Amino acid sequence: MARKAKKKATKSRKSKKVGKATKKATGKKTAKKRSAKKEAGNSSVPNPPAGGGAAAHVPTMQPPASGVKVRMYRHGHGDCFLLAFRGPAGRPVYVLIDCGYKPGSNVDYGLAEISTVISHIGASTGNHLDLVVVTHEHQDHVNGFGKTGSSDFDPIAMDEAWFAWTESPTDKLAIELRRRHGDQLLGLVEARNQLAAADPGAVGYIDELLSLELGVDTPAQFAAAAKEKKKDPEKSVNKQGMKLIKDKAGKERTRYILPHQEGLTIPGVDGVRVYALGPPHDADLLKDENPQGSEAFPGHGISMRASFLAAIDPSIAADNQPFYERFAMPWDEARRSEFFKRHYGDDKVAVTAAAYADECAANPEWRRIEKDWLFSAEEMALMLNKGINNTSLVLAFEFEASKKVLLFIGDAQRGNWKSWTTSKKKNDKIDLVRDLLARTVLYKVGHHGSHNATLNGATDSDYPCLAWMGQGKFTSEFTAMITAVNKWALKVKPKPWVHPLPSIKTALHDKAEGRVFQIDTSTLARPDGASVDDWNDFMGRVHIDPAGLYFDYEVHN
Ligand SMILES: [Zn+2]
Repeated sequence: MARKAKKKATKSRKSKKVGKATKKATGKKTAKKRSAKKEAGNSSVPNPPAGGGAAAHVPTMQPPASGVKVRMYRHGHGDCFLLAFRGPAGRPVYVLIDCGYKPGSNVDYGLAEISTVISHIGASTGNHLDLVVVTHEHQDHVNGFGKTGSSDFDPIAMDEAWFAWTESPTDKLAIELRRRHGDQLLGLVEARNQLAAADPGAVGYIDELLSLELGVDTPAQFAAAAKEKKKDPEKSVNKQGMKLIKDKAGKERTRYILPHQEGLTIPGVDGVRVYALGPPHDADLLKDENPQGSEAFPGHGISMRASFLAAIDPSIAADNQPFYERFAMPWDEARRSEFFKRHYGDDKVAVTAAAYADECAANPEWRRIEKDWLFSAEEMALMLNKGINNTSLVLAFEFEASKKVLLFIGDAQRGNWKSWTTSKKKNDKIDLVRDLLARTVLYKVGHHGSHNATLNGATDSDYPCLAWMGQGKFTSEFTAMITAVNKWALKVKPKPWVHPLPSIKTALHDKAEGRVFQIDTSTLARPDGASVDDWNDFMGRVHIDPAGLYFDYEVHN
């Protein structure tokens, strides 16, 4: 209901803007068509970017003669990419990578409603997707899919689906990880609720992270969603979207992909090889989230308190308590003890101003630390969240003729990046991966450009990093895509999400000589000193939708 009401409210605001854009675009034709205006009704208004209107005049998306057209939708803070390759007898082959966004990050920032984007995808593809790839189970990558029967994707056919091995119903490690994640989420929701009771202003950031994990928008839904997810993971909102895709593609054509296992191909596309580089089939690497030392771009620091982990995970509690158990007393017992009441206060007695001056007059709650661990809930939420980011399916699409590579990494973080070259099963991957990255001409920037999803380094670093990408003759074409709405991200309370991290944005901008797309930014400009020829070649392959719904970018084979 809330979502619908919001949609209506933004509709009128948005349609004004569309009207203006339309006038501009069709200015020349207006005079000629004026007489036919009555009959035509509103059919002369092309695809409104927001408001959920039917995409009536959308042409099907056409790939270049050889190569790919990559469409980056501008639908809020999240990922939705439509790729068009040339298929048999010239038929376009359509690949969709993710479709999700953070609620609140679209229309208020001049961006399209998700329903508008999905009907546009349907119209652009003749309601037919050859392949759907889901990188990982986060709201901002899957909530566009929705539930079968009430989904905007209902009319759209999907022939094949690719997920990471972490979604496999039979992989033992995947099953164990899901169980653990379910337990931790339940504990986190409980901690969140206790913290909200103690300090309602302290949970904003946790709520954003929980809504990402659980796929629901309001805190009142968290507990039920976490319980449901634990009991039957397939019923979570994020999983329902993934189920819609699995059902459409069918069991036979739903694949759970392990890295470095086999050469993958896109059904119906010749001359393109797909390499899966991650996620690692290794629980330790999946937990390895933050760049260390020189792997990090400057400008971000993170801390982590083990006490919170101890509080919600008894199995590690013993190792993380500040005192031996025999020196500790449970809270309930302590509050009944006269000694503790006398020296540490009684929480049944109202706090008085004197309590702060006089050492133990009445209930000086500052002497008690039993709720302190709750304030680490935030860090726990962040850790869970990053754990799922690390399950991102990382794909490198390689054109056999030109050797160019497109690198889509979802939200992969440190352990995932590192595993690309250190696969346990095969240790000969370093040369292959170094080579694939060197030939990368399009990098889908990890996790909206955050500090932990693009590794810093040098060309001779012994781990994959940004510097490895776009080397030699591929430098002049290196381009990056950032799926961020910066102003929305900076409003996340109480701790803003710095997406993209300025130092990463700058590094990308410098490396790509200005060839950086960002969802919330309509303009592209050649930086001073950048090659004019390279820039003109680039802009010749770019189309910015005048209605603001997407960027199209061609990579020629
Ligand atoms: Zn994301």
